[in-house]
Amino acid sequence: MTDDAATGIENLSQETRTFSPSSEFVQNAVGRPSLYEEAERDRLAFWRARASLLSWKTPFTETLDWTDPPFAKWFADGTLNAAYNCVDRHVESGHGEQVALYAEYEDGSDATFTYAEVKDEISKMANVLTDLGVKTGDRVAIYLPMIPEATFAMLACARIGAPHSLVFGGFSADALRSRIEDAEARVVITADGQNRRGKQLPLKPAVDEALAGGGDSVEKVLVVRRTGGDVEWTEGRDVWWHEARESASAQHEPVWVEAEHPLFILYTSGTTGKPKGIIHTTGGYLTQAAYTHRAVFDLKPSSDVYWCTADVGWVTGHTYVVYGPMANRTTQVIYEGTPDSPHQGRWWEIIEKYKVTQFYSSPTAIRTAMKWGEEIPAKFDLSSLRLLGSVGEAINPEAWMWYRRVIGGDSCPIVDTWWQTETGGIMISPLPGITSTKPGSAQVALPGISADVVDESGKSVANGDGGYLVLNEPWPGMLRGIWGDPERFKETYWSRFEGTYFAGDGAKRDEDGDIWLLGRVDDVMNVSGHRLSTMEIESALVSHEWVAEAAVVGANDETTGQAPVAFVILRSGNDEVISAAGGEDKVPEMLRAHVGKEIGPIAKPKKVLLVSELPKTRSGKIMRRLLRDVAENRQVGDTQTLADASVMDLIQKGLGGKA
Ligand code: ATP
Ligand code: MG
Repeated sequence: MTDDAATGIENLSQETRTFSPSSEFVQNAVGRPSLYEEAERDRLAFWRARASLLSWKTPFTETLDWTDPPFAKWFADGTLNAAYNCVDRHVESGHGEQVALYAEYEDGSDATFTYAEVKDEISKMANVLTDLGVKTGDRVAIYLPMIPEATFAMLACARIGAPHSLVFGGFSADALRSRIEDAEARVVITADGQNRRGKQLPLKPAVDEALAGGGDSVEKVLVVRRTGGDVEWTEGRDVWWHEARESASAQHEPVWVEAEHPLFILYTSGTTGKPKGIIHTTGGYLTQAAYTHRAVFDLKPSSDVYWCTADVGWVTGHTYVVYGPMANRTTQVIYEGTPDSPHQGRWWEIIEKYKVTQFYSSPTAIRTAMKWGEEIPAKFDLSSLRLLGSVGEAINPEAWMWYRRVIGGDSCPIVDTWWQTETGGIMISPLPGITSTKPGSAQVALPGISADVVDESGKSVANGDGGYLVLNEPWPGMLRGIWGDPERFKETYWSRFEGTYFAGDGAKRDEDGDIWLLGRVDDVMNVSGHRLSTMEIESALVSHEWVAEAAVVGANDETTGQAPVAFVILRSGNDEVISAAGGEDKVPEMLRAHVGKEIGPIAKPKKVLLVSELPKTRSGKIMRRLLRDVAENRQVGDTQTLADASVMDLIQKGLGGKA
């Protein structure tokens, strides 16, 4: 163990397995080792070169203006349009007939949109929005399910330079209202309803409710018809998209905006507290989206079928469903429904149906698939896959191994991509075909990105030590601020370490210099003077054959200051495991012993609580702060961004005094 005063967070686990890419992959890889050298030689020249992945209306002359940190300007005197870059130019270069979107609906029906068709749709919607009074610079709130119209709405906004603000279709009227009000949106784009697990859930009533109690900036509501049936209608305010579309022209001249024109506002997922309205601008964001999507996913536009399972309501859906893939002329799948409806093999069935080549998803989804059992994916032909990605949380080494073996046929490289809403695009990730991958580690900063792990005083930690993840050079996709709150921007990210962006995550550097994410520093616990991360204890639990998912929190403890408390979901029904263990009381004891053996006695959870669900955000992240409330017998805090608010009741009922 290392001295915690010097390093911040302790490093408990060791991982020695590595996987080299196949020689075939290496030969054809998009990424080249020379990218690292190029960036190393001259970082700004490197980004200048990446900006040529885009089409500029007016070329820029200055790459970066960093005279007023932390407010960066990238490519500032250039002009461009994001929708033109994502759609029109592909049509102009003769790829209008290439499929842009394979839309798979929940009920198994589907639709295909070529780039030429997408161009028509977004041009029409841009004309309709203009008719509704939307001007360049006005904000538009988008509250839609995962249907093609969500992509069209985003690109239609981008076409007229109206920053969009996506709000998850699963969020409540209150959450929607607060985001509409914060951004002062002029128009809301929504749908009558959405399909979820075979049911039709209304969506528009939440908009009506949000606007009844506030949201005064909103003048018009554009409504996509998805589920059909009756909807309340406010004359003069509400407009059906399918009706407006009929008479809308498919001719629309994109509005050329300056590189620093805001492209969107997006609220963070709220894992640690009140969501922040993160601002992204056009030129720098799109450059990083296009470059990272191409290099990290080894994208071959003419032959690949890419699928990212993220909802457009969170940042992965912005950068790796809409802007990155479409700037790169990708053919991709978008899917309306959930992974388990009508059956638990739904995702794998979609991969088989479209012969998906790259699949990008989250650790929580992978752990859930593990829980359901590998016989389910085994029923489908997944041999088209050649690359797998993960994002959202650190992926536990055992989940990584399962992903590679069961989904990736033991051969697909896995890219574990670390980034945030704030960073705009991927920052730390292996490059496929170049990096030998290591289960559980995001490994290295991408070429052009500068990341470090530092101690309390801001000094780089030695290999083998833990600390705080920082980004110490500006990057094109960086947030330009928090909407309406420049002070909070400085305070949140730039005050912990002078002049350096602090991500809020703990990390360590292993003996090879590879970076491992250890979870939020807010979640770090102090056990008898040792600062332990949640992540390593969770991974130790997940490495036990019984465990599907685990969340660990530090709860106040009279003797040790804080003590780890683990919430565990077992892989196959609790009953089976309990009888194998010889009684319910035995399971926690055996898991505690397992953690002790894997990473040391100090990390042994004081309590192990068996639960059937964990509280997660809509983007699939575990909300540990709520579990800490449970572990410390407090009233549970703000659950607004939870995917399923009933989960907390379930957990508390299930524990019924046992905690
Ligand atoms: P809030 O900031 O409101 O609490 P959030 O941080 O959950 O919300 P996001 O921007 O969606 O909102 O998530 C970014 C965070 O997700 C990162 O700071 C990190 O903690 C985690 N994360 C994302 N990808 C990875 C990864 N590959 N490995 C480890 N952690 C990851
Ligand atoms: Mg965050």
